Amino acid sequence: MKVYNTLSGKKEEFVPIEEGKVSMYVCGPTVYNLIHIGNARPMIVFDTVRRYMEHRGYEVNYVSNFTDVDDKIIKKANEEGNDPSVISERYIAECKKDMEALHVKPATTHPKATCEIGGMIEMIQTLIDKGHAYAAQDGTVYFKTRSFPGYGKLSHKNLDDLRSGGRSLLVSGEEQKQDPLDFVLWKPKKEGEPFWESPWCEGRPGWHIECSVMSKKYLGEEIDIHAGGEDLIFPHHENEIAQSEAANGRPFAKYWMHNGFLNIDNKKMSKSLGNFFTVRDISEKYDLQVLRFFMLSAHYRSPLNFSAELMEAAKNGLERIVTCVSNLNFLLEKAHKQELSGEEEKTLLQAKDFMKKFDEAMDDDFNTADAISAIFELVKFANTSVGEGASAAYIRALKDEIVELMDICGLSVERGQEILDSEIESLIRERQEARKAKNFARADEIRDQLLKKGIILEDTREGVKWKRA
Ligand code: AMP
Ligand code: ZN
Repeated sequence: MKVYNTLSGKKEEFVPIEEGKVSMYVCGPTVYNLIHIGNARPMIVFDTVRRYMEHRGYEVNYVSNFTDVDDKIIKKANEEGNDPSVISERYIAECKKDMEALHVKPATTHPKATCEIGGMIEMIQTLIDKGHAYAAQDGTVYFKTRSFPGYGKLSHKNLDDLRSGGRSLLVSGEEQKQDPLDFVLWKPKKEGEPFWESPWCEGRPGWHIECSVMSKKYLGEEIDIHAGGEDLIFPHHENEIAQSEAANGRPFAKYWMHNGFLNIDNKKMSKSLGNFFTVRDISEKYDLQVLRFFMLSAHYRSPLNFSAELMEAAKNGLERIVTCVSNLNFLLEKAHKQELSGEEEKTLLQAKDFMKKFDEAMDDDFNTADAISAIFELVKFANTSVGEGASAAYIRALKDEIVELMDICGLSVERGQEILDSEIESLIRERQEARKAKNFARADEIRDQLLKKGIILEDTREGVKWKRA
């Protein structure tokens, strides 16, 4: 399996630190609003990386944070007259709903910055003790960028070039920096802001330190993959490397993966430019599976331009695969023969080529565009090779193959799989109410509707239980 590593600027063979295991940290969103579809790109692509690794037999420990202390959260809290935690908790909950609808699996751990302040203070103190950081008179703690020899190795920037552009790095209020290249680890509180006690002043952490600390706590000092959007390469990830490697005295992440931007009219989609659609906006027009399919139709490192035409093309493409699977299901029910014929056995070997193509594309730095082309070829093959006389075993083998490859991409093509836990629960509540109202016809209808989607209900003394068939 080859992975493009931003650190080396090359595709490298993937060799995990510990055999059979992958530790992966993906920088998550700042939670002050609904996420936009640009934020959804890293979620979708790195969830697909995770799913493919799991398919290849790796046990993946996947950590993705929520940045829940930040100027924008505080600003919104002050506007609403609420505590910042009310804002961040609200948007974490909304973000999780969007993730579920996009079939992004919950991370193994979703740490929040405000719950990790103790660890941040500890790491900052270690950096001071080792001579990599200093506290200025006003209590701000800065990282001494020049004290870390590897600074610039990820973004391939040279310290002296940065220095010549240094003026722009001098921010008002940061006049006590010893060098314009130094960056903030801890800053004093301002009026109306949340703050924590620390050895230097009452204040709050700079942004970069949270990821160094959470990655270490949940995955260890050295991890396999660190990922995020390409805007994070500099300064965020460069600073994370400096902090972690200076504090721990060993390499931080082996592979650095970055997704390209989701653009609109060839400009990066962002809150600040106002050229964005939230995931929620898109869900009003499309099933979010279409958005996921659209994102995966491009290589994750390429820029991707969002347009109505491309979304329509994604919708039609996905529909073609869904239709093929539902036709196969229909033929499966009608099949007279059960066992594979000798001829079918041979034809199935040809179908294996498409699976091989899929794996080869994914092994080549997760080329989902080519992997999806291989699925389309398999669909075409199924559409032409399954005739009236096909055996159930043959139809099932092809169908299972399409379903499995789509599943690795986080896309479900069988209608039954599309039902979410929340929808099931709401139908069960409706059925209980119908029964109470003695509307048994409606209650039975709901039971049958769920059964068609592969959901089995069981009436027990403790209430209704359900399971997926
Ligand atoms: P933020 O909430 O801005 O910190 O962003 C959360 C994640 O979304 C980061 O990994 C960003 O790099 C990524 N991101 C933000 N905007 C875009 C975009 N237009 N295209 C792709 N990734 C983005
Ligand atoms: Zn981060």
